Amino acid sequence: MTGAVDIGGTKIAVGMVDDGGRVLSKLESPTAAYRGYPDGLKRMIGMLRETARVAGVEISGIGIGSTGLVYPISGAFGDVDFLPGWQGNNPVEDLARAFNVSVALENDADASALGEASWGAGKGKSRLIYVTVGTGIGGGIILDRRLYRGADTAHPEIGHHVLDPSGPLCSCGFRGCWESLATGPALAEWFKSNTLAEQPYPEDLTAKQICQLAQQGDELARRAVEREVYYLGLGLANLINLFVPDVIVLGGSVMKDAALFLDGIRKVVSQGCRFVPFEKTELALASLGEDANLIGAARVWHYRFRQIAGQPS
Ligand SMILES: [Zn+2]
Repeated sequence: MTGAVDIGGTKIAVGMVDDGGRVLSKLESPTAAYRGYPDGLKRMIGMLRETARVAGVEISGIGIGSTGLVYPISGAFGDVDFLPGWQGNNPVEDLARAFNVSVALENDADASALGEASWGAGKGKSRLIYVTVGTGIGGGIILDRRLYRGADTAHPEIGHHVLDPSGPLCSCGFRGCWESLATGPALAEWFKSNTLAEQPYPEDLTAKQICQLAQQGDELARRAVEREVYYLGLGLANLINLFVPDVIVLGGSVMKDAALFLDGIRKVVSQGCRFVPFEKTELALASLGEDANLIGAARVWHYRFRQIAGQPS
């Protein structure tokens, strides 16, 4: 049985995941990074013990997916925005010592890519890009069934490719990155800045609420969704031109409204990808549901320590 640990900016989730990618038990705790790494580690160990007890299983290995930057081979945290003070600590060594099992760590988007490639929407595909669109845009790239790593095992930042150099300033220093144009907050920000003073909208509508308004026929919300479709489509078209993957798996909170976007995205792709067989790239919605991060974290262990024929190894 694989113990799974998903470390995010707001919560740490832990669960027991079987060899078919099913979650048997789970628990979560606020990340509360300010309480320090030893406190976080103690809670991870406690939740692993408790979820194993509830599921009535023994832990045979542990997979971790964490918000980045992390070092997958050494197992240490890098300088992670959401985990101030945790840099240099090593949950792989610490959990291996506590449970006497093998432990593997990956960036959480890479973990989700591995999960979807083995147990989800990308099953059986050898070239897969996972894209998550929520408050940020992240992703993982699997080429020929192997997780792509850059120099020094770096995780590529697909959310920071530039779509419009005159666009909004991004946290990375560029203007008009995909992430600054097509996330939920970017959609909400555009809507807010285009609302006229006399218009009767409640303040600070979320991307989800704006999508609902668009479905009800609201004109400004429809324009916001059109703009969202355009930038989602441009970013995905770039990935298709660069990689022509078998499938791009779309996840994240914004993709819960994918029904509003998908036809438009396909249109944008077809307008600009004519030198590659873009129609061979399937656009699929992530299928592992609310436990996708835990399932992906479990898959990290399988990917590192247990090579299964026909699956990413
Ligand atoms: Zn950026």
